[in-house]
Amino acid sequence: MARRKKVYEGKAKILYEGPEPGTLVQYFKDDATAFNAQKKDIIDGKGVLNNRLSEFFMKGLMQIGVPTHFIKRLNMREQLIRSVEIIPLEVIVRNYAAGTMSQRLGIEEGTQLPRPIIEFCLKDDALGDPLVSEEHILAFGWAGQQDLDDMIALALRVNDFMSGCMLAVGIKLVDFKIEIGRVWEGDFQRLVIADEISPDSCRLWDMETGQRLDKDVFRRDLGDLADAYTEVARRLGVLPSNVTHTTKPTLIN
Ligand code: 5GP
Repeated sequence: MARRKKVYEGKAKILYEGPEPGTLVQYFKDDATAFNAQKKDIIDGKGVLNNRLSEFFMKGLMQIGVPTHFIKRLNMREQLIRSVEIIPLEVIVRNYAAGTMSQRLGIEEGTQLPRPIIEFCLKDDALGDPLVSEEHILAFGWAGQQDLDDMIALALRVNDFMSGCMLAVGIKLVDFKIEIGRVWEGDFQRLVIADEISPDSCRLWDMETGQRLDKDVFRRDLGDLADAYTEVARRLGVLPSNVTHTTKPTLIN
């Protein structure tokens, strides 16, 4: 089999050179990490579920005119994407208080916020992805004013789309993180949603029971992570209801 050139390996994904210039192959691993990789495990089937779920969200976004890096899913664990220049910021949108916002501001988890609140964190593992202000972003040149305005507009559109998708299947979108990249078209650049959108990067709570259906299951030892992601995929119709991650080959006597 032809060997592919690895371009980058992150905690949950690997990027390989794509078949054509300007493309990459994004491979979803089963690795789960939390607390800046201090907690690690391999979760059987997580990569397959996140590949499917990210495809589902990216395709839906493109259908409503939100540009993304997604081109097509190639197989169970890989998708073809456009190569983009990642802006070194995590864009977080919060609808309800949770996680670091609750810790920082002493707001009880689950409290509805007066409006969606956007935060930016610098993508820097060594520093633990610190929260930064728009002043920092502009002063240090991580993004310009136009980029910032465009990033906020994109993040709010993603929030509306994702909130609607989740509401329809009885799930509350508490918060999420996206990454945004620049693509060049001739002399012009535009921003697109990049990386992945999956339960790894969202907080998803069952509307009725409050059950966590996201990576907090792993971060906080709340149960089986793949079961939670399978439930999200099943509700969204991304997986047929009779397929679960626990389906393994069995010996026939
Ligand atoms: P918090 O700041 O409360 O830890 O996270 C807010 C939201 O952004 C959560 O949905 C969380 O999953 C997501 N998020 C924040 N940082 C990261 C990150 O480094 N990786 C991933 N996958 N998600 C993140």
